[in-house]
Amino acid sequence: MEVDGKILKRLEEWQQGGEALPEFVGLYEQLLRIQVEARARIPAPEPGLSRDKASDRLRQGMPLLQWRALSLDWSAFQDLFRAVVSATGEYYKATAEAVHSLRDIARDIPPLQEVTKAWYEGSPLSAFSQPHGVDPELLAAVIHSAVRPFLTCWSEALIGLVDQEQWRRGYCPICGGKPHFAFLDKERGARWLLCSRCEAQWLFQRLECPYCGTQDQDALAYFTDDDGVYRLYVCERCRTYLKAIDLRRTQSETLLPLECILKLDMDGQGRDNGYRAGWTGTVSDG
Ligand SMILES: [Zn+2]
Ligand SMILES: [Zn+2]
Repeated sequence: MEVDGKILKRLEEWQQGGEALPEFVGLYEQLLRIQVEARARIPAPEPGLSRDKASDRLRQGMPLLQWRALSLDWSAFQDLFRAVVSATGEYYKATAEAVHSLRDIARDIPPLQEVTKAWYEGSPLSAFSQPHGVDPELLAAVIHSAVRPFLTCWSEALIGLVDQEQWRRGYCPICGGKPHFAFLDKERGARWLLCSRCEAQWLFQRLECPYCGTQDQDALAYFTDDDGVYRLYVCERCRTYLKAIDLRRTQSETLLPLECILKLDMDGQGRDNGYRAGWTGTVSDG
């Protein structure tokens, strides 16, 4: 995958240049390598949807990629899941017990299918994680890492069927995931959202919260950094934040997923001001 390959290259350049990167970047890089390798073995999916049919679905607010269409290669997924668990275990020594439990979950394909379907459809994972004594957030993170190469393949195959002017909703037109980053485009400063699950990009209103849908201008605000490159959108109604970058103010090529991962100071700024990352949890628990 092109962007992931570029991210790996940039991380290598930074390391060779002696740049001090946050500790978690080591795991991020290792997972990215596993995903890039897996991705190279995944055949390009056939969209299986006509433009008219896609347009119908989108008009009804339905994302294009349904669970049953995803049809994962389960044996490949199982290998990937195990590789992600091993990498995570190596990185965080404290997770030895969790690693054991996660391997248990991945032992047979049917339960793995069930939990991955629940994750994809946004159902709570506690029913799966609790019997194994695993933190549901860790389980979700592992599933996400393992399924990401498949989802990004699909996302690239389907994104051409999305009429951007037509969709404009707060969730992903491909997989239904929530956005975890935004950017203002170079051409006209229009705001686009980036899916936290499949990396699809879609056009969205400048003045609307993608998480609760409010358009109340008194509830919406943003902070910028000194150069005006980064923005932190906040919503008073659902108390969430969304990180963003203004591409009109950047010079070099911007690798969006990397920006999203590395702008930890903005997460800190959001939390210090009493907001939570909008793509995590549900709106009602805010
Ligand atoms: Zn998505
Ligand atoms: Zn909101």
